Amino acid sequence: MRADGYQQHYVAMLAVTLMIGCGEVHRVRVIDRIERSGRFTTVDKPLPTLDSIDHVRGSVVEMFGGASIRIDSANPARDRGVNRDQLVSHPESVQTSWVKDGEVAVPTDIASLLLLSAYAHFERAAVYFSELDSIVTENSAPCFYDPHIPISDDLTVSTVDNAAYVPIADLFLIMRTEKLGDIPLALNPGVLAHEYAHRVFYYELWGAELADVEMDPLAANLLGAVDEGVADYFAARIVNDPQFTSHSLDETAAAARDLSTPRQLEVAWLDGTKPTKSGVYDPYPLGTVLAANLWHLVDAIADLDTAVLAAQRSVRIDLSTHGFTYQVGDFEIALLQHLDESTRIYACAELEYTYAAAWNRFSGVCL
Ligand SMILES: [Zn+2]
Repeated sequence: MRADGYQQHYVAMLAVTLMIGCGEVHRVRVIDRIERSGRFTTVDKPLPTLDSIDHVRGSVVEMFGGASIRIDSANPARDRGVNRDQLVSHPESVQTSWVKDGEVAVPTDIASLLLLSAYAHFERAAVYFSELDSIVTENSAPCFYDPHIPISDDLTVSTVDNAAYVPIADLFLIMRTEKLGDIPLALNPGVLAHEYAHRVFYYELWGAELADVEMDPLAANLLGAVDEGVADYFAARIVNDPQFTSHSLDETAAAARDLSTPRQLEVAWLDGTKPTKSGVYDPYPLGTVLAANLWHLVDAIADLDTAVLAAQRSVRIDLSTHGFTYQVGDFEIALLQHLDESTRIYACAELEYTYAAAWNRFSGVCL
């Protein structure tokens, strides 16, 4: 497989017609959520970045099936997907099945519907970040559908009913759906926007150079929480749904990630050792404090998205200048520094209660 060379630029997004084989197809029938009703249904969408309906390949992602993915700390995968083939073996192009209904391509089996819907959701996120001038949107990434993932000590992700972004190899994974009755993750636009936001974080905060970073594992935990929080925030923004996880996760898990519920930082979380789940650090509770607070601020701060991206770049510069350490609040403080004075005063007043456990750290930016 290609280890790099995913360099198709976003010029293709300006086109509105898919030129597929013989005859023109202008839209593709996919599953999406209707914002007005909150219901999931089929929608005929133009997918301007999609170059091949047959192989679900475009300038945002390219889908592969049949691959085996080896996730372990000893693998020699390099940043930006260089040597990605050390991690991935036996990828195959996917082949969708579809028919034309007028100018619409209609998938004729579940897998084709799922893959094309997933592309549509990734594209929506990519377009959103492109409009914010995120650097990641210049090259596409592979997405491996239903991969075989051998269990290893390093593996902390569920290999079914899941989706993931693997930063070092710059690739996406969509695991197979076993649990029917909910919206499969590949059909949930918020979930794939969340994964796409991880890719943006990898490029913006880590400069797409994570392979050689040596940092305090507790600081890495705290930054992992920021990564999850920012991904949930952007996902909710992109699909305008602070409860996007509720369509695919069970009630308890979804309630814990509901961005419309106010959250507060706990003292026990400050050192990066807690909370844990099944014996390993759980980044979501701290991440959800950040995400819920950003969501709470969004109506009052027009350019909050820009400030969130700018904070990612600031933390990257700070990490490279001051070494790879991180404390709770560093990201939020960087974000506040990117707001104008009146907006910052407002945001500080809003955040003081939430971040009371670490508020002394904010004294330089919140007077
Ligand atoms: Zn995540």
